Amino acid sequence: MVASVVTVPKTQKAQVTREFGLNPKFEEIPVPEPKDDELLVHVIYSGVCHTDVGVVKNEYRALGLSLPIIAGHEGAGIVVKIGKSVTGFKEGDRVGCAYLHRTCNTCEHCKQQGNEAFCYSAEYLANHRNWGTFQQYVAVQAFQAHLIPEKLDMAKAAPILCAGVTVYRSLKETGARPGQFVSITGAGGGLGSLALQYAKALGFRPIAIDFGDTKREYCLKQGAEFFVDAKNQDVVQEVRRVTDGKGPHAVVNIAPAIKPIEDAIKHVPSQRKNRFGYFAINSVNKCQDGRLCQMYKFIY
Ligand SMILES: [Zn+2]
Ligand SMILES: [Zn+2]
Repeated sequence: MVASVVTVPKTQKAQVTREFGLNPKFEEIPVPEPKDDELLVHVIYSGVCHTDVGVVKNEYRALGLSLPIIAGHEGAGIVVKIGKSVTGFKEGDRVGCAYLHRTCNTCEHCKQQGNEAFCYSAEYLANHRNWGTFQQYVAVQAFQAHLIPEKLDMAKAAPILCAGVTVYRSLKETGARPGQFVSITGAGGGLGSLALQYAKALGFRPIAIDFGDTKREYCLKQGAEFFVDAKNQDVVQEVRRVTDGKGPHAVVNIAPAIKPIEDAIKHVPSQRKNRFGYFAINSVNKCQDGRLCQMYKFIY
């Protein structure tokens, strides 16, 4: 049973994928009923993440997706119904709904602050019972919902729920300090442009790495101090050159390819390898025993 004072319709419009491929269709489907620990959120805005494309095309076989699916995991909306065990939320609250939608809060990862993205029984929007934000109403575990401040435009808040938090956490994990150089590969893309803005706001000296003049112009506008053109310049040399030969203090790699990761390993000097921290998508770190290991890590 849930408490509700606003009228929530029985059905809603949703963009439903019934066969894998880029052809989801609008349908009228039932509005989900929130569980005791969930909020029902009227989605006002939803970002579109590249992962959504992968979900509807079933590119992530390891997720074991089953049809039908409703994608979307950058939702910003209004709480319209509250599960009976939920505390700390009220109807009318503005909340964000992220990809990580449910955690157990009891396993070893959940008990370690900031590590619940690795929860053994984590659930993600679109992958589990709770479909994603490409519907008018989504049910999310209250613990993983995020209050959106009144002053923040919900349209701007939506993409922060995945792209934004991923790169913000990555920047924090590098351990970089204000005044230090941070190189960002794939800086002209969706995640990269947010990473540049955060890096600038955090007082770092961002070096953007991407392709071509359009990206150069864009990255410099988003806060990059330097732009390195990976197509026309030697990335390792150029990054070293703009950092007075010393290399950046940290790297956030967003480009999902081997070459930028290999370049990053080369352009960070050995004295600073321990400042690699974690990368956004393709994560590279120097292991304790000195080997370079590559890992895949969602950071929220
Ligand atoms: Zn995403
Ligand atoms: Zn857990």
